[in-house]
This record gives sequence, structure tokens and C-alpha cells, in this order.
Amino acid sequence: MSSVVVVGTQWGDEGKGKITNALSSDADLVVRFQGGANAGHTVSVDGTPIVFHLLPSGISVPGVRNIIGPGVVIDPIALDVEIAEVIDRGIEIGENLMIDVGAHMVLPYHKALEAAEEKARGNAAIGTTHRGIGPAYADRCARDGIPIGTLAAFDVFRSRFEEIVDRKNEYLVRLYGEEPLDAGEILEQLHPVAERLARHLSDTPETLRAAIRAGRNVLFEGAQGTLLDVAFGTYPYVTSSCTTAAGVAAGTGVPPSLIGEVIGITKAYTTRVGAGPFPTELTDDTAKTIQERGSERGATTGRARRCGWLDIVALKYSIALNGIRRIIVTKLDILDSFETIKVCVAYDIDGSRTDRFPRTVDELRRIRPVYEEIPGWMSDTGEARRESELPAPALAYLKRICELADVDICSVSVGAKGDALVEFTSVF
Ligand code: GDP
Repeated sequence: MSSVVVVGTQWGDEGKGKITNALSSDADLVVRFQGGANAGHTVSVDGTPIVFHLLPSGISVPGVRNIIGPGVVIDPIALDVEIAEVIDRGIEIGENLMIDVGAHMVLPYHKALEAAEEKARGNAAIGTTHRGIGPAYADRCARDGIPIGTLAAFDVFRSRFEEIVDRKNEYLVRLYGEEPLDAGEILEQLHPVAERLARHLSDTPETLRAAIRAGRNVLFEGAQGTLLDVAFGTYPYVTSSCTTAAGVAAGTGVPPSLIGEVIGITKAYTTRVGAGPFPTELTDDTAKTIQERGSERGATTGRARRCGWLDIVALKYSIALNGIRRIIVTKLDILDSFETIKVCVAYDIDGSRTDRFPRTVDELRRIRPVYEEIPGWMSDTGEARRESELPAPALAYLKRICELADVDICSVSVGAKGDALVEFTSVF
């Protein structure tokens, strides 16, 4: 099958950007299907890091076409800035970027409302990225959204925007006591942006279906991770979109029957940004070591990430939800200095042992992880490019993950650089 979906199996930040960037060189098309500018994919271009929030990772690979699908919510101003930055770095975009006309827009009132809502939640704040993603998806469902294709006829957009912004200002002022937004100022800012983005607007689903039918390599690039899925994640501490492989059909117009293999990206340990349950979270020096060695800070927000050991119960849950048979393990090198590594093999909830991932936050909070200890390798894996170059205990760790999660590993990432990969089997 020529189409491959890449999804994070944890709470996002698994290093999907590097992997999709590496896979992009073998792809004809790279497609974003959900999320918005709350995603932050760091890729390394000619040795220098560059962060993509909305652009698919394939944008940095010459000749690869990229689609932002209708399931994505797009902040047109943020996308315009991102495109300019990429062009500044000498990357040609031209025809290589298609923005589906049906993708909804994140507009300044979404961001203002999100900030006001998070403030009003007080201690119960979710820890959102304040990029307006949740309110934009909510507006789409409430039939109050504006698809980006509307920008092609600015007058049509203007009248729809003016009607909606008045109502949003009512919420901001009367409910939250905030300042109203200046509609005229926003329209003035959006007008040139609309002109620049218009050249990329396109009706993409048929292009995509035809490419898959013709046997082209298509890479669907997931943002965030499975445990942040709006329906199956640790609700309400989730993102507002469907982050699992199921989101591909809904977010691109490609039927499930045309979707090929789903590859899971699994970090060799676990991190989580923002609030919400995290069964294997550590608060000791180990967490600090992982945080520092792994530079575990949000690519979008700069926030320090919470760190802990790999959670097999959660991994098995993700594998089942996404239909994953192969995973790519990332950041193995971050564990290089540990004498002993732990893996959570089961949960203890109120004295009973289970390997079921609970569906309620209340249960998730009561979990005590049951760990298995595995000897560390205490040596540098960063230079390994072949299986035989990995230390035996590192291979044993990987083998144990496969046994416990009943999955195969297709490659292992051992450094931030694009070539720091040990490939066992090829993806396409
Ligand atoms: P994403 O959103 O899933 O792409 O994850 P992040 O934006 O958090 O990217 C992970 C960070 O780790 C980026 O700076 C990557 O360059 C880096 N990275 C990815 N894979 C590896 C790896 O195997 N080892 C190390 N040391 N860094 C990695």
C-alpha cells in the first residue's frame, strides 16, 4: 500500500517531525489531516532546526507536494508568517503547497476567547496553547466557522466575518470582561494575507485519492498524539481534533479503504505538556535528567515537559486504536546514561492489577504504575546507524518493548539529526 499514516502513540512530541521529514524524501505527497498551529514539528534543515506549526514536514524536501487537509484548522496570519520564514530559509514553496478550501480558519476572536476561557477556568485550566484551536473547531461544529476557501472572495469573507465578530465581542465583553476586538483592524491585516494564501487554495481530496490510486507514496502526518485525541484521549486534557489514524479519512476526504499502513511513533520514554493525568510521571532527578538530555520543552510554547518512563499499557491502547503493527522508537539516545531503565508493564488501580488503559480521568489519577526494570547500556548510541552498532542492552530494551506491546519496530532514532536513524525495515 502506498499510503502511510504516521501517528504519535503518546501525548505528542514523540519526534514525529524528524521522522516524517526523513520519510518525506521517499514520499510524493505529505498531508496534514488534523490540528492546527498548536502542533510544533521541529525538523533539521541543513543542520539548523526549523519549527513547522502548520506546514507539512515535506515542505523542506524539493519536489514533494504538501497538502493541508480540510480537517486542519488554519490561522491564516500564522501560516502566512510560516511560509515567509520558510521562503527566507531558501526553500521554494510555489506549487508544492495546497491548502484545502474546506479547512476552517482560526481567527483572532478564537484566540482571545480561548485565553479568556482558560483564565476563567482558574485551577481547572487545561493548559492549552492559546492558539485558538479549540474555539475554531467548536465554531465549525456550531456552524459558525469560516472555511479558508472564503478568502478567495474577500467581500464574501468580510460580510461573514463582520457578522460573527460582533457576536464574539459580546462574549468577550459581557461574559469575560475583556476588551472587544477591532474588526476593521483585523480585516486590514487579513486582506494582504488572503491575497498571498489564495494562490495555494485548492480542492484537494480528489488529487489525493488519485495519487493513492496511481500508487504514489502518500504520507499522512499526524500532529499531537493518540492520548490527546478528543474522543479517546485523557479527556478533557486533550486537543480538539481526532489525532488517531481514524482522523485521516475525516480530515482529508480519502476513504478508509485507501488508507494503508499506520506507523506509530513512540518515544523511548514518556513526556506530557500541560495538565492532565500521566501515570508514569517522575518528579525526581531522573525526570530532570530526561528533561535536560532530551531538551524536553514545547516547540510551540517553550513550556518544560513533564517526563517519565515508557508506559506499555498506554502504548498498547494506542496500538489497538490506530491498528499499528510497526512503531518507530525515537530518542533512544536520551536514555544512554541510565544504569537501569524502567518500563511500566501494568497499572495498579485500588489494589487490582490491570493492563487496561482507563477511560476516565478519575481512574487515571488513581493509577500506580507497575514497573519492570531493564539494565541500561551506559554508552553512546548516537553514532549507531545499524542494528549491530547498538549496544546489546539497548537491543534487549527494544526487544522487550516489542514483546510487551506485541508490535514490531521498523526503525530507531538515536539523535536529532536527520541521519541519526537505525533502520530495521523500510516504511514504504
Ligand atoms: P514532534 O512534535 O513529535 O515532532 O516532537 P518535537 O517537536 O518535540 O521534536 C522532538 C525534538 O527532539 C526535536 O528537537 C527533534 O530534532 C529532536 N529529536 C527527534 N528525534 C530525536 C532523537 O532520536 N534523539 C534526539 N536526541 N533528539 C531527537
